[in-house]
Amino acid sequence: MAGQQEIKTPTCAKCGACTPVCPVYQSTGRESHTARGKLHLFKVGASFDSAYFNDLLGKCIQCGACDDACPRNLTPSADIRTWRGQQPFGNDPHGFFKFLSTKMLASPLLQEGGCQTLRALFDTLPKASGLRKRLDLLVPGFTARPQLPLPPKKSSGKILSYFPGCLAEHLYKDIKAATAILADRCGYALHTPAALTCCGLASHASGNKQEAQKLARKNIKAFAVNSPADSTSPILTSCASCTSHLKSYPALFADDPEMHEKALVFAHRVQEFSTFFVGQDGLETTKPQQPLFYHDPCHLRFGPCQVSREPRQLLTETNGLPPLALPAQCCGQGGLFHLTNPDLSQDIFTRALEPLQEHSRGLVITTCSGCLLQWQQGLARANSPLTAEHLAVFLAKICKD
Ligand code: SF4
Ligand code: SF4
Repeated sequence: MAGQQEIKTPTCAKCGACTPVCPVYQSTGRESHTARGKLHLFKVGASFDSAYFNDLLGKCIQCGACDDACPRNLTPSADIRTWRGQQPFGNDPHGFFKFLSTKMLASPLLQEGGCQTLRALFDTLPKASGLRKRLDLLVPGFTARPQLPLPPKKSSGKILSYFPGCLAEHLYKDIKAATAILADRCGYALHTPAALTCCGLASHASGNKQEAQKLARKNIKAFAVNSPADSTSPILTSCASCTSHLKSYPALFADDPEMHEKALVFAHRVQEFSTFFVGQDGLETTKPQQPLFYHDPCHLRFGPCQVSREPRQLLTETNGLPPLALPAQCCGQGGLFHLTNPDLSQDIFTRALEPLQEHSRGLVITTCSGCLLQWQQGLARANSPLTAEHLAVFLAKICKD
């Protein structure tokens, strides 16, 4: 393994607890796609010179299920990220694509420009255009975003910090608007610092620790400098993936005591929005009793968040009926994973959709912008009568005037 940095190989007991929970393994049935398989290959000397191994490193959605299942408290998902970071650029089959994507995500201007261009292109296309249909499948309802009620102006003066994330900031703007409506009903005005950038999850998952740290520094500073909100008050988030990654900032700076301290304070303030709104007065709804399913994002099931009760409780209280049963199952999106491994991503989604096949109506609710994208695309591709919506948007639409 010439030129390869030596990694302290974790002690894996080969018990296999990480195998059945791995969504990639569930699709392919290949041992080399499990955490155990990858750890073993590295132990016996897998090399970055091998095209096979380089491809293998991309076959991980970074869901964290293996970390959660491991009785030895190993963190195989972190090892996979470390190895990805050591892949020579030319040997990573998705290296160039990952480089471009993470650069784009690091630039809010590029993202906004890209989304506006796409929207303008969409508007010029004839209704029957094949490209229009393909774009609509890419981001269903791209131009027909649901109309949200305008929030009444309240004058409580309480300001709450908010981290919308790239998708809610540029693509799914209704999520940001809906979160503002919910906050308003509870007596808060949201404040999003202008200097915010991508949470850095895509860079982190690609193994680009330096870029991930750079983005994290910007975000920590953005909420610490000139913020009108109390410096100890919650920073609300409406995307599970962003939430999980923002809460992981302390680990990102484990080797930098000064930044680690700041990251700890920051991470402590980060609060997933359903856990905030479930305890609030003010969300009076029409209780429409719609048939609903709640999809648990992996980033809330595993890792630092562990949020599953609150979204369900919020749905039960506001809809007037509890969500219908839906097994917790990865949807296959995984950020860049659904672009670098489209067939595998689709296969994982098909398994998530399977329990819903018998239903002729219903709304799939989730709290992750990435999962939402996957569900909207997947349901449209499958010609399903079901639709998908973000929890914040659903709640804002059923709020009483
Ligand atoms: S992080 Fe998820 S996809 Fe990756 S090896 Fe672990 S269980 Fe499998
Ligand atoms: S659960 Fe942990 S110890 Fe068991 S095989 Fe997987 S990585 Fe190894």
